[in-house]
Amino acid sequence: MSSKKRTSLELFRLKKTLNTLADKEGRGTELVSLYVPYGKQISEVMNMLRDEYGTASNIKSTTTRKNVQEAIVKVQQRLKLFREAPENGLVIFCGAIPQNGAGSERIETYVIIPPEPIHIYLYRCDARFHTEHLQEMLREKETYGILLVDASGATLATLQGRRLEIVRELTSGVPGKTRAGGQSARRYERLREMKLNEYFTRVGQHANETFLPIENFKGLILGGPGPTKFDFEKGDYLNYMLKEKIIDTIDTAYVEEQGVKEVVEKAPEIMRKIRYIEEKKIMQQFLYEIGHDTGMVTYGEEEVRKALESGVVRTLLLSEGIDIVQVTVKCNSCGFEEKRTMKSQALTSFEQSLVGKSCPKCSAPALSIAEKQELIDNFAELAERTDTDVEIISGETEEGQMLKNSFGGIAAILRFKAQNT
Ligand SMILES: [Zn+2]
Repeated sequence: MSSKKRTSLELFRLKKTLNTLADKEGRGTELVSLYVPYGKQISEVMNMLRDEYGTASNIKSTTTRKNVQEAIVKVQQRLKLFREAPENGLVIFCGAIPQNGAGSERIETYVIIPPEPIHIYLYRCDARFHTEHLQEMLREKETYGILLVDASGATLATLQGRRLEIVRELTSGVPGKTRAGGQSARRYERLREMKLNEYFTRVGQHANETFLPIENFKGLILGGPGPTKFDFEKGDYLNYMLKEKIIDTIDTAYVEEQGVKEVVEKAPEIMRKIRYIEEKKIMQQFLYEIGHDTGMVTYGEEEVRKALESGVVRTLLLSEGIDIVQVTVKCNSCGFEEKRTMKSQALTSFEQSLVGKSCPKCSAPALSIAEKQELIDNFAELAERTDTDVEIISGETEEGQMLKNSFGGIAAILRFKAQNT
C-alpha cells in the first residue's frame, strides 16, 4: 500500500476522532491534554505530572479534585508504556466525561500517535480537550499563495496552516492617474501604461519565482482593492501553471500586510470552497460514468461492499453524515450471528424488538446486539485493506446532495470494468 493513501485514511480517521474529542465537555476543569514531542524525556514528563497531581490536591470541589487526580494517574500509566516518545511524538487526552447527564462521568483515555511530528510540549487541564494543535497540523500540509496587487504596490505571502509569511512587498513606481499641469495628456497616459506594464511584469516574475517551486501548493488567492487585480490576471504576467491555480479573487481594502490579514480571515471560507470544487469534480466523474454506462462505477451499500471486498474500487465515495450503523445480532444460546444495517435513529427500537424474539436457528429468545459499527468506519476499514482512496463528500454541493439522496450516500469509482455476475 502506498504511504500516501494510507495517510489519507489515517487523516480521515484522526479528523473524525478529533472532532469527537473536541465536542466532549467535562463537568468542571478536569480534562487533561498532554502533548509530548520526540526527544522529550519521559521521566521529566512523569515528574511534571507528579507535581500537577500535588497541585490538584488544592482543588476545592471534591468531585473535580478526584476526577483530575484520577485522570493524571491514568495518563501516567499510559505514559509508562513508552520508553521514549515516538518519532512523531505522542498525545494523550484523558478525563471524566459525562456519559448520560451529570453524575454519570466515566474516565476516558485516548492515546494518539500523530501522523506527522508535533513540536510542542504542553500540559493542560481544562473543561475541554485541547485538540486544536493536532487539528491545525492536519490543515498545515498545504500551502496557499496570496498575491495582492493594485496600482500602488503588491504583496506576496504564503499561508501554510496558520503560518503566514509575507514574502515580498513591491512598490509600483506607476504615477497616479492625474498628471501634473503642462504635460500632454496622451503622452502621460502612454507613459503610465508603460510603467504599469513594467510593474505587472515585475510582480508576475516574483510570483512565479515564489509560488511555482512550492511543494503541495494548493492554490493562489488574488486580491487587492479595485479592478487592477483583474487587469493583472487577464494579462500575460503569470506563468500559465500558476494562473491555473488561482482559486479565488477577492476584494480587500488594503494591498499591504493588512490586506493579507483580510485574506487570511476569509481563508477558511475560501478553503471550504476549494474542497467543494474538489468534491464536485469527483462527483462529476462518477455521474459521467453513470450517464455513459461505462460499467466503471457502482453504488448502494451491498454493491459497493461487494466491489470493495473484491478489491476493484479505486475511489470510495461516502456522504458525510450518512449515519448508518452496522450491527451484529448474536444468539447467546447457539451462537448464531447476523449482520444488519440501519439508520442510527432506528437502533433503539431495533434493540427493543429483539427482546423476547426467538432465534431463527435455535428458536431460543436469546438474541442481542453483540457489536455496533458505523458504516462509514466499516467501509473505511474495507477500503484500507485494498488500497482504495476514501472521499467523504459533503452535502454542500448539488452533486453531494445527489450522492446522498439518489445513490444512498455510498458509491464507488472502479479500477476496471466490473464483471457482471
Ligand atoms: Zn440461537
